[in-house]
Order: sequence, then structure tokens, then C-alpha cells
Amino acid sequence: MDGFVNSCQLRVPLQSDGEDVRLPYGITEDDRLVHVTEVASGLACGCRCPGCGERLVARKGASKVHHFAHHVHRACAGAWETTLHRLAKAVVLEAREILLPKAVAEAGDLSADVAAATMFSYEAVEAEVELGDLRPDAVVTGRGRQLLLEFHVRHHCGPEKIARLRARNLATVEIDLSRVPRLLSRAEHAELILRTAPRHWLHNAKVAAEEARLRLIAGRMAEVERRRRNRLHGRIADEVAAAWQEPARRGHRGWLTRAADAGFGEFVGVPMPGDRCFVFDAATWQAAFLLYAAVDVAGRTFTAENVLNYLQRQGMLKEPFKPRRNWEPELVAHLRERVGGFRSPIEVMAAYATWLAERSVVERTLKGWRADYEREWEARARIDAAGAARKRETDLRAKVNLLLKEAQLPTRSAKPWMDRVLPGFGGSPRALAREGGDCFEDVLRRLRELERMAWAGGDPVSGDLLGLPLEGLRRTRQAEAKARQETLRRIREEFAAQTGERRRRESSDFVDALLAEAALSMGEVDGLAWVEHAVRSASGTTFDEGRLGLDRVTQEHIKGALDDERRRSELIEHAATAGRGDEAVMTAEAVRCRQELEARALRRFVGDADMARLWLRTTQPALGRSPWTHSVDERRRDECLRLLDAALPKGKRR
Ligand SMILES: [Zn+2]
Repeated sequence: MDGFVNSCQLRVPLQSDGEDVRLPYGITEDDRLVHVTEVASGLACGCRCPGCGERLVARKGASKVHHFAHHVHRACAGAWETTLHRLAKAVVLEAREILLPKAVAEAGDLSADVAAATMFSYEAVEAEVELGDLRPDAVVTGRGRQLLLEFHVRHHCGPEKIARLRARNLATVEIDLSRVPRLLSRAEHAELILRTAPRHWLHNAKVAAEEARLRLIAGRMAEVERRRRNRLHGRIADEVAAAWQEPARRGHRGWLTRAADAGFGEFVGVPMPGDRCFVFDAATWQAAFLLYAAVDVAGRTFTAENVLNYLQRQGMLKEPFKPRRNWEPELVAHLRERVGGFRSPIEVMAAYATWLAERSVVERTLKGWRADYEREWEARARIDAAGAARKRETDLRAKVNLLLKEAQLPTRSAKPWMDRVLPGFGGSPRALAREGGDCFEDVLRRLRELERMAWAGGDPVSGDLLGLPLEGLRRTRQAEAKARQETLRRIREEFAAQTGERRRRESSDFVDALLAEAALSMGEVDGLAWVEHAVRSASGTTFDEGRLGLDRVTQEHIKGALDDERRRSELIEHAATAGRGDEAVMTAEAVRCRQELEARALRRFVGDADMARLWLRTTQPALGRSPWTHSVDERRRDECLRLLDAALPKGKRR
């Protein structure tokens, strides 16, 4: 919208591009600055341009913000600035008070508030006053104090003018009107000029005095600081000079080993001037440097500070070099004077990195150096392989030591053994361990077998002893094994003998018990005869031999037969005592014949009493009944006996 008031837009100087030059003020015939609101519309306003003096028309339409424009279109540069400058003077001449800015004294880093912002009332005011070589925009006077005002419309006060103001001690405030919007009312413009536009002191006697005081203080502080720094530098120089003389020590072997494993062996141990800041020799700190740069941070840029911090974390810097100094030039210059050959650790880092870059170990980048990933992969693979080989070697050495200890042999022979070629393996144990592979596995397997032999009670092994002094041990183990077998055989024999003796005793005890029992039921003579007959029949030998060799089953049968015999006697006795005359005699005869038949059957079937009883009680076709039922007198008993002889299978006959 055309009528919209925008300070940015209005700040743009009026260009000769045919645009309408819009002004809020014009000059009347009697040379007064009037706002467009105070005049008639159009040419009737009777105003001229404050810049060029040409006639203006007052545009007081409905759609745009009211303003003056040149009657004849023309580029009128500077019209607004001239207007504003003139307006400011007019406003100050009409007013009686103006806001003075806050007074602040500043010197270096120090500052102090001298006076707060305040309204200044004035009784007298003059514009464009000649003060010798100075011509301020306005001079106001109040309560005996004179104050110069400068309006900054296009240019602010230059340093020479400020110097003249200071020289003559003229209190001056500059008001910045460069951003005052154009199309405002006169009252709004006056408010900006008198109070709200930014303003500051060009010269203020109190501020000047305070600043002089602050400068003095700042100067003293700087002096104190300079002395403090000199003292500090002196102290550091003393410490550095002392530490510089300390000889470098050899660092932990691990650094060098790892660097060599990684393939960096040829790049460490390079003399680098000024590296006496390190506790350790060049080889050690350079190994650490390389492992950091080419492995830990490979692919990334590192700076001299990065790598120095790393070495510090590894405890490689002498005491005075430990603090995280940025090695400012003043200190370094001071140290160069005091300590011969001194270079800051940062310089040493940079020098070594440059040396490495010349050999393409690292490459220069914009901010530092960098090693590529390929180098890192290669280094890591080499480190891993070397570590594994070393571990195999250590393990092998430990195994052999353990074996020798187990065999109670001195372990000192393990060391030369490691380097002696093993016949049949084509290399020394150390070389085989370094190489790994099947041959090494074979050595390990053999060692395990030898170790088992070394254990107390272990079995002797035959064949290769891997060149270890285990021949004596093997002979010992062979003798032990032989002795063990001998003992075992003896124990078995003893056991067998004891078992036989026990059985003989059991058999003898059985026969003794049987004799006692038989004597009880048959009388001494018959009992002895019965038992002797039974034992001879069962064993098939003499009674004296048989009484010691009856097994359990035979004992059972003989016992069963004795029980039958006793039952038969009891039956006869019972029948006899019943006293039933002939019938009883006949029955007694039948009982006797049956018992004789049973005894014969038992004897014929010795070893199988069940078979004997089964035969007695089974119906035989030749008799028409069982032998037991048939045998009631001696004639029938003999028939049965003949049948028994015929029935017995040949193999069973004794
Ligand atoms: Zn003009």
C-alpha cells in the first residue's frame, strides 16, 4: 500500500528515478517550516522545497498519507535530509528541555557509569553558533551550563571534530536522526528529536576524567599482568631448563614391539631436534605417535595438538611440559633464550609429522595430517598376526615348562629346546609356533601325550620324545606298569584260591551236618552208610573226595533225599504202632516195598529227585497204573524195579 509508512522505505535516499519525492514539510513564503497538515491542498499551499526551493503541491487525497511533492517532477536529492536538519533545529529552538544520554566511561576492558540519562532544562538556545573553528547545530544553556548539540542526519561527527571538542572541553551530545521515519506528524518528529532517537556524548568532562582514571588503572593492571607473566615464564624456563638435562629413558617395550609388528619399524627412532620434552627415547614416543596417527585415528585429520595430548595421556611428557599450554610465542621466545636448542613440543610434533609426510606414511591436509584407512587395515592385520604367533610361542614354552616340572626335571632345558630343530618336524619348536599350522598342532598333540605320561601313575608312551629328556621317566613308567600287572595277577590268584577253600569248607560242613541229621533219624550206623552212599553216588568219587566237592545244587538234592527217607521211617513207625494186625503188616510191607522202590528210583535218578518222583507217580502202560500204586508186595516191587532199569535212559546210567 502506497500510503503505508515504513521507516526503512523512507530511509532510502530519494533517487532520480522519476519517483515522486514525498516530503512531510514545506517552506512557506515567509520562510517557516510547515507540516503538510497545516496548509491548504494542492498548489494553494504556497510552499517550496526545503532542498531545492522549487514549488511544491500538497497532496492531501483520501488514499495516500498526506505529503508534499514537487510541482514539476524532478530528482531532488537531499531534500529530506535538509528538511530534517532544519526541523531538528526548529524543534530544539521551540522546546525547553531535551533528554541527555547515559554517561559511561570506557577504557580497555574497564567501564564505569558516570551519570544516568536525564532531562536537561534550558533557558537559552541558539542555532548555528560560531565557536571559533566549530559550528555546532545548536547550543543550549541551562543553570549556567552550556551544552552543544549535533544532529546526525547523514554523517556522524568525525574524530577530528571530537578531538577539538575535547581540547576545548565543550560538553556535546550527538543525536542520531538517521533512522527517523519521514511521514510522521510534527509532534511525533519532535518526540523523536527531543527524547527517543538514539543519542550519545561526544564529549563530557566527567566522562573524560573517569576515563583517564580507568586508563591509569588499566595500565597498572597490565603492568601487574606483565610482571606476573614474566615471573611465570621465568619459573617455567627454570623447570624446562632442569628437565631438559634429564636423559631420556627407554619406554615400555610394548610400544616398540607393536610398532614393529605393524610394519613401522623403519620410521621410529629418528632423531628429532628439541624432543627432550619427552621422558622416553625417540623410538618410544615415535612408536606411540605412529600407532595413534596411523591406527587409532586413521582416516581422520590429526593436529600437532591432538597427538601431543595423546602422548601426554600416555605419560610420555616430562613434568614441565605436562600442563596444557598453548605454547604462546612469548613463552617460546623466552625459552629459546634460556634453553639451548629449545623447541616447543608442538613444533616437535609438527616436525615429525612433516618427516612422516615426506615418506608418505601420512599425508598433509588443510588443518593437519592424516593416514589412510588402507595403512590402518594393513597395520592391524600385521599386529593381530604377530600377536597370535607370539601367543603360540608363549603357550608352547609354558606347556614344555609344565611338562618338565611335572616330570620333576629342571625347566632350564626348555629354552635351548625351543631353538633346536625337531627331527621329523622340519624346524625348531619356536619356528613351528611362529608359523602355526598342522606341524605345530602335531607337536602340541605329542606334548599332551608326554604330559599324561608325566603325571603320577601315567602310562608310558612309545616312540618320539620330541628331543626332551624324558627317557628316564619313560623307563620308570614302564617299570611301574609292569609291577602293576604283576600285582594284579597275584591278587586274582589269591582270590581264586580263597574261593576254592571256602567252597570245600562249606561242602565239608554240609556233609558233617548231614551225618548228624542222618544219625539222628536212622541211627549212627545206618545214617553213616546212607550218607556215604549218597555222597559217593552224587560225586562219582570216593567219600573223602566227594565230601569236599559238593556244589550247592547237589547239596540240595541230597538234603531232599534225606528228608524223604526220614518221612518214610516215620510212616512205617506210625503204621507199626497203630497195631492193625495182618492188614497193618500188609500195609507195612507195601510201605516198605514202595520206600525201597523210591530209594532205588532216587539212586537211579541221582541229581534229579523230581524226575524220580515223577516216574514213580506216572501211570506206566506195562503196569496199568503208577509204580507207586503197583508196588504193594515184593513181587510187584521187583516188576517195578525191572521197569525202572528199562526206563532209565542210557546216558543217565551210572
Ligand atoms: Zn526540492
